[in-house]
Amino acid sequence: MFSYRHAFHAGNHADVLKHTTLLAVLRHMTQKETALNVFDTHAGAGLYRLDGDFAKTSEEAAEGFLKLVATKPEKPFAPALQDYIDMVAGFNAGNHWSVYPGSPFIIQSLLSGRDKLKLFELHPTDTKTLIANVAQLEAGRQVTVLREDGFEGLKKFLPPPSRRALVLCDPSYEVKNDYARVVGMVADAMQRFATGTYAVWYPIIPRPEAHDLPKKLKTMANKAGKSWLHATLTVKSSKLTQDAQGEVVRPGLPASGMFLINPPHTLKAALKDALPQMVELLGQDTNATSTLNAGG
Ligand code: SAM
Repeated sequence: MFSYRHAFHAGNHADVLKHTTLLAVLRHMTQKETALNVFDTHAGAGLYRLDGDFAKTSEEAAEGFLKLVATKPEKPFAPALQDYIDMVAGFNAGNHWSVYPGSPFIIQSLLSGRDKLKLFELHPTDTKTLIANVAQLEAGRQVTVLREDGFEGLKKFLPPPSRRALVLCDPSYEVKNDYARVVGMVADAMQRFATGTYAVWYPIIPRPEAHDLPKKLKTMANKAGKSWLHATLTVKSSKLTQDAQGEVVRPGLPASGMFLINPPHTLKAALKDALPQMVELLGQDTNATSTLNAGG
């Protein structure tokens, strides 16, 4: 527990999928007059350096967001992808990409004064950094940082007074039990507040729990008669390879998915052109692909 630091992964291909989707969801949900409550159950540190040691060591942003903005697409960027790039640009001066906003800052940048954001984070260092980052915000009072277990902590806030909420659930899946905890949390939240929008990110890796997670969420949505959307992005094969010395080389994260219950009706159209473009620009081998399905 707590070996995971999102600073190594900020701006990678999974963040491109997750944050493009998150932004498209918020664009729609923040249009209404009624106050919106957003819960980020696994918030991370909030802001990351793209030119710092973590990003340089992992080089994950170089294969994700930085690759996206360095490559000229054949066609103009799809509107959802352009919106995402413009949003990240808002955190950077000129054309120098030095800062990458995590989900707390992406969400906060879209909220209006009546909306509220609750951030859960357990890592001692990342919680401190998150608190310090949030303290810099002018609208800091609409944001609450809780050093609590997000899976459990969400319960006490549902249903929200305005009856409008988005829950982003983005664990590190460091422990195998996280997969079951995601399903348990969404099932409990749906009991308390069936009309909320629930967005779950998950890694697509050769592990039964990861394979089963979207299936379980889909069954849950269908049983409750709720709509759902499932988007995936694969950038490379998940097969193990061997280096010149015959050592087994793990491929790193090959793919990830976003599963949403009660997504905005505009989301599928927003992602339809953005996903193939992510494949075109971020794909690393012939296994690169995307899927987009919706139902309910
Ligand atoms: N949502 C962030 C973003 O998109 O910028 C990234 C979050 S990162 C994938 C997952 C975070 O969850 C890590 O910072 C980790 O320390 C934290 N974490 C792990 N278990 C947790 C728990 N039970 N409750 C709250 N936070 C947790």
